[in-house]
Amino acid sequence: MEAALTSSSGERYRDLSLWWDRLPGTLAVRPPLAGDTEADVAIVGAGLTGLWTAYYLAGADPGLKIAVVERDVAGFGASGRNGGWCSALFAASEERLDREAGAGAGAAMRRAMESTVAEVGRVVDAEHIECGFAAGGTVVLARTGVQLQRTHDEVAAARARGIDADGLRFLSASEAAAMVGATDVLGGTYTPHCAAVDPARLVRGLAEAVERRGATIYEQTAARALLAGAVDTERGTVRAPIVVRATEGYTRSLDGEVRTLAPVYSLMIATEPLPDAFWEEAGLSRRETFADHRHLIIYGQRTDDGRMAFGGRGAPYHFGSAIRPEFDRDGGVHESLRSALVELFPALAGTEVTHRWGGPLGIARDWFPSVGLDRATGGAWAGGYVGDGVSTTNLAGRTLCDLILRRDTELTSLPWVGHRSKRWEPEPLRYVGINAGLRLAGSADRAEERTGRATWRSRALGRVLGG
Ligand SMILES: Cc1cc2nc3c(=O)[nH]c(=O)nc-3n(C[C@H](O)[C@H](O)[C@H](O)COP(=O)(O)OP(=O)(O)OC[C@H]3O[C@@H](n4cnc5c(N)ncnc54)[C@H](O)[C@@H]3O)c2cc1C
Repeated sequence: MEAALTSSSGERYRDLSLWWDRLPGTLAVRPPLAGDTEADVAIVGAGLTGLWTAYYLAGADPGLKIAVVERDVAGFGASGRNGGWCSALFAASEERLDREAGAGAGAAMRRAMESTVAEVGRVVDAEHIECGFAAGGTVVLARTGVQLQRTHDEVAAARARGIDADGLRFLSASEAAAMVGATDVLGGTYTPHCAAVDPARLVRGLAEAVERRGATIYEQTAARALLAGAVDTERGTVRAPIVVRATEGYTRSLDGEVRTLAPVYSLMIATEPLPDAFWEEAGLSRRETFADHRHLIIYGQRTDDGRMAFGGRGAPYHFGSAIRPEFDRDGGVHESLRSALVELFPALAGTEVTHRWGGPLGIARDWFPSVGLDRATGGAWAGGYVGDGVSTTNLAGRTLCDLILRRDTELTSLPWVGHRSKRWEPEPLRYVGINAGLRLAGSADRAEERTGRATWRSRALGRVLGG
C-alpha cells in the first residue's frame, strides 16, 4: 500500500527534502474536495505538470473552471524534492526523435526545451517566485580517459547536428577545473541551457500563482480512478469533460495504471552551508549545475545558501512499483552519494550532511516522455520524464493548454505529442528487467575504472537507454 502522509499540520512535510525544510513561513494545508463538483478541466496531481497546466490554461481562458486534486500537498512529489536542474535535457535523444518522427524532429524538440528554460525564468520573474533561479548553465566533467573520450564524442556529435560552441562547448582541463574545483578533472563540457532552482519554492510559488489565476487546488484528496468525463476521488467525484493525469512517478496509484510508468527512485543529500573558503576552491561561482560523465547519473548544485546539494540514481526499483515513505531514505545509497561527493571535493570529508531524502520519478517502458490528449475520452496526460522534468513539465503544461483549447501550434506538433509507450511487463519481469538495467549502469562504471576503457557494458547500456 502506498502511504500518504496524513497530518493536519503541514509542518510534517518539511521532512520531505532540504527544499521543504527551507520553505519560509508556516506550511498550511489547503482544504480537500468537499463532495461532488463539476469543472471544465480536472487535473490530478499538484506537481509541476499539473500546476503548469493549470497556470497556462487559467491564463489563456480565465473563464475556465479548473480543479486540481492532490493526494497530499502541492509539491509533495518529485517536484518538491529534485536536484533543481531546470535544464534543456530531454530523455529521448535527438537521433531517436528523428527516427521516430522524421528529420528535424530532434532539433525542434531541442529548441523547444532550450526556450523552456527561459520561459520558466520569465514566469518566475513575472510571478515573483523567489526560488533562487540562477541561469548558470551546466558543467559536465570528464574525470577519466574514457569519460574524456565520451566528452569529445559528445561535442563532435553536437557539431554534426549543427549545435555550435554557444550551445555546447568543450572545456579543457584548466577551463573545467576553473569552473568546478573537483579532483581529477581532465576536461568537460559546458552548456548555458540550465538554471539552478530551489524546486520546492518553485512548485509552491507556482501553486499560489495558479490560485491567483482563479483555479482551485484541493489537497488531501486522493484520486482513485480516472474515467471518461470524471475523476473518482476519496472525497467525491469531479465531473469534467477534460481530465489530466499529472501523477508521473505515482501513476501506479490510479486504477488500471500500475504498468503505465515505473517509479524509479533518485536520492539526494545536502551539506550544511559551506564557508567562503571552500567555495573559493570549489568554484561554481555562477551556481552552475554539475555532473560528470559516469553512467550511473550524479547531479549537483551549489544552493543559494551555499550548501552542496548532490544526488544520484542507484536505489533499486521496488517490486510491484511500490512507493513507500521509507524508500526515500536508503542508508547504503546515501552513503555512496556522500563518498562520491567527497571524492569530488575532498575538503568536504568532515562536513556534516544535514539532509538525506529521495523520491520516485516516472519512466515509460520505452524511456520516451510523452504528452497528449485523447479527444474521444477527454483523457489527457503528461509524464515519463526519466528524471528531467523540472523544465519539461513547463513545456508539457503549455502543450496541454494548446491541446485542450484546440490550438494547432508549434508546440502541439513536437514529436513527443501523442506518443504512446507500451505498458511495462507484469511482475516479476518488470522487477528483474529494471533492476538489471540499474545494476548495469553501476557495473559499467566499475568496469571502466578497472580497465580504463569503455566495455561491452557501456555499449549495452546505450542500447538499454534507447540510444
Ligand atoms: C530526487 C530527485 C531528483 C531529481 N532531479 C531532477 C533535476 O535536477 N532536474 C529535473 O529536470 N528533474 C529532476 N527530477 C525529476 C523531476 O523532479 C520530475 O520529473 C518532475 O518533478 C515531475 O513532476 P510531476 O508534476 O509530473 O510529478 P510529481 O512532482 O511527482 O507530482 C505528482 C503529484 O501527484 C500526486 N498524486 C499521486 N497520486 C495521486 C492520486 N492518486 N490522486 C491525487 N494526486 C496524486 C502526488 O502527491 C504528487 O504531488 C528529479 C526527481 C527526483 C525524485
